[in-house]
Amino acid sequence: MEEENRTGGGTLIDSATSAEQLSAALLEIEDRSLWNAEADLALTTELEARAVELGDDTLVARARLCRTHLLARAGDIAEAARRLDDSMVWAVEHGDRLMQARIHVIWSYVQRLRGDFAKSLEHALSSVELLDGTATPQMRVRHHMKLADALADSGALDAARPRFRQTEELARELGLWEPLTNVLNNWAYSEYLAGDFVRAQEVASRLQEHAEAHGIELATFTLDTIGAIQIGNGQYAEAEQTMLACIELHHTGRYDGAEYLAEYLLTLARAQRGMGATDRAQVNLDASRAVCAERELHEVMVRVHQEQAELHAARGEIHEAFATHKIFHEAYERLRSKQHEAQAQTIFETVEVREEAERFREQARRDALTGLRNRRYIDEELPALIAANPDLTVAIVDLDHFKRINDELSHDVGDQVLVRIAKLLESELLAATPDGFVARLGGEEFLMVLPTTAVAAATDHLDRIRKTVSAYPWPEITGTLPVTISIGVAGVHEASDRSQPALLSTADRNLYIAKHAGRDRVASSQPGKARTYRDLDAA
Ligand code: GH3
Ligand code: MG
Ligand code: MG
Repeated sequence: MEEENRTGGGTLIDSATSAEQLSAALLEIEDRSLWNAEADLALTTELEARAVELGDDTLVARARLCRTHLLARAGDIAEAARRLDDSMVWAVEHGDRLMQARIHVIWSYVQRLRGDFAKSLEHALSSVELLDGTATPQMRVRHHMKLADALADSGALDAARPRFRQTEELARELGLWEPLTNVLNNWAYSEYLAGDFVRAQEVASRLQEHAEAHGIELATFTLDTIGAIQIGNGQYAEAEQTMLACIELHHTGRYDGAEYLAEYLLTLARAQRGMGATDRAQVNLDASRAVCAERELHEVMVRVHQEQAELHAARGEIHEAFATHKIFHEAYERLRSKQHEAQAQTIFETVEVREEAERFREQARRDALTGLRNRRYIDEELPALIAANPDLTVAIVDLDHFKRINDELSHDVGDQVLVRIAKLLESELLAATPDGFVARLGGEEFLMVLPTTAVAAATDHLDRIRKTVSAYPWPEITGTLPVTISIGVAGVHEASDRSQPALLSTADRNLYIAKHAGRDRVASSQPGKARTYRDLDAA
C-alpha cells in the first residue's frame, strides 16, 4: 500500500529547550519520512507549547505546521484543513517560501485523503515549484515523490514514471536511504494499481535489494505492496508468507495504527483465495470486515465486498457471489461519486499548463547565446544562497582583450568563443563542485557560484579552470589570438556585509586587481592584501 507511517526517535526533542534546540528538533520532524501519528502528535503538541513559551514567531509557526501535519495523519482532516489555511496566511505574509512549500505538500496529502486528486496534484506541483536553493535534501526528495504520487493517483502514470525515476536518482545521489525506500514503495504500488505487475515487480526487486544492502527493515506497508504484487504475478504462497510477516510486524505497533490491519488482512485473504485455501481466506476476510466496520473504513470495505464476491465464486456459490457483487457495485458507486471523478479532465490540462509556464519561466532565466543562467536568475536565486551558505564563494570571470577578437576576426568568432567559454566554465565548475552554477552577467563577463566551497579551496579550483581555458585548442577558432580569462574571487565571510551587492563588488575589485597585474590570473582577497595566483605559480 502507498503510505508512510512509523515511530520516530525522541531524544533530540526531550532536551529541546533553547530556540536553537527547538529549531533542530522541529527540523528533524519536518524532514522525517515516516511518522507514527499518535506518538508524534503528542510530541508536536509539546513542541508547539514550548515554542509559544519562547515567544518566537517563526518557531511557533513551524511547530504549528508540524502538529497540523500529524493531525491530518491521525485522521482529523477538518481541523488540519482549517489550520493549513492559517499557516498559509502566515507564510505568505512573512515571505517564507519553504514553509509555503511544506504547506502545499501537506495540502496534497489532505486532498488525497479527501479523494480530490485534482487538488492534490495542484498542491504537489506548487510544493515542487517553491523549492529553491535553501530547501533541504529531504524536502527535494519528498516533494518530488509527492508529485509523482499525485500524477499516478490521477491516472497519469506515464507522466508519473519519469518523475519517480528522477526522484529515485535524486535520493540515491543524496544518500537518503529511508526516503528512497518510500519512493520505490510508492512507485511499485502505483505500477501495481495500474495493473502492470511486471514493472511493479521490477521496482519491488530494486526496493528489496536496496533495503538489504543498507540494512533497512521493510515496513508493513512495503510488505503489503510486495504481497499485492506477488498476488498479481500468481505467486500466492509467497504472498501469504509476506502478509503473515507483515501482520506480525504490524502487531509490534512500530509502524501503523490499528486501522491499517484491515488492509493487510484483506491482502492476506486474497493470497489465500489464490492458493485455494478458501477457509483461511474467509476467516481473514471476516476479520478485515470487522476492522472496517469498527473504524468506518469505507474505501477498504468496498474492496472487502469485492473480495467476498470473488470468494463465493471460488467456492462455486454463484448466487451468493452475484448478490455480493451487487452490494460491492453499489458501495463502489457511492464512494466514486464522492471522489470528484468529474475533475479527471482538468487534471491533465492543469499539468500541461503548469509545465508550459515552468518552461517559459526557465527560458526567461537563461541567456540566449550561451544557454547559461542569466542575471535575472542570479537576482532571484543568489540572495537565498548567500543567506543559507556561510562558505559560499563567487567569482567574476572576464575575458582578456576580448575586443581584439571581435575587431581582428569578427563578431561571429567572438560569439563562438563566448559559447565555448561558457561550456568550459560550466563543465569545469560542475566537475569541481556539483552544487555550483555559472551565469552570464552580460557581454564577456560571467559569474561562477560555489555555494559550499570556502575562498581558499575555491581559488584553487578557479585557478585550475583558468589554466584549462588558456590551454584549450583555441587556434582552431581564433588562429594566432590567444584566449585567456581573468578572475576576481569573493567569499561570503570577507564581504563587508552578507549581501549580494557587497559580495559582487568585492569580486569586481579583485577582478580589477587581476587585470592590472597583467591578466590571465585569479585574484582573491586575503585579510589586508591581494594574492594573484599567477604570481604564486611563478614563485
Ligand atoms: P579586458 O582584458 O580589459 O577585459 O579587455 P576587453 O577587450 O575584454 O574589454 P572591453 O570591456 O573593452 O571589451 C569587451 C568587448 O566585448 C566589447 C564588446 O564588443 C564585446 N562583447 C560584448 N558582448 C558581446 C557579445 O555578445 N558577442 C560578441 N562577439 N562580443 C561582445
Ligand atoms: Mg568586460
Ligand atoms: Mg574583457
